[in-house]
Amino acid sequence: MIKRTLVACPLQRFAYKYRMKRPLCLVCKQRFCAVNYHRDEQVHYRGRCEHCIKKNQRIKPPIARWQTAGYKKKPACDRCSFRSKYASQLLVYHVDGNQHNTGLRNLKTICLNCVEEIKRMDRPWTPGELEPDL
Ligand SMILES: [Zn+2]
Ligand SMILES: [Zn+2]
Repeated sequence: MIKRTLVACPLQRFAYKYRMKRPLCLVCKQRFCAVNYHRDEQVHYRGRCEHCIKKNQRIKPPIARWQTAGYKKKPACDRCSFRSKYASQLLVYHVDGNQHNTGLRNLKTICLNCVEEIKRMDRPWTPGELEPDL
């Protein structure tokens, strides 16, 4: 007679079956991701483990392209000279609209207010209108 371990609960059975596929938490990368829901015998996981969700640990955003390119966000807006209190009040703007163009001439530090204004303009900022930051 072959002894079989019986897993009574179907959810436990799925968990057992898909245990190998279970991804690691994107925050701590140590614990398994929490289960989000089950559908069609498939387990769908969250991006974080129970521990990190409870502690409200955020998934770190990937490093911005401009940061990798060596650009540093300035303390004031390049367009209206607004000086920010918090770094999140300023964004790095790609003058030509191409997020992949991280040439220093293409990057500007602008405030959220200017972002709103720029969005509504036809020709917000053409390269050459402003002095390049070198
Ligand atoms: Zn975690
Ligand atoms: Zn501004």
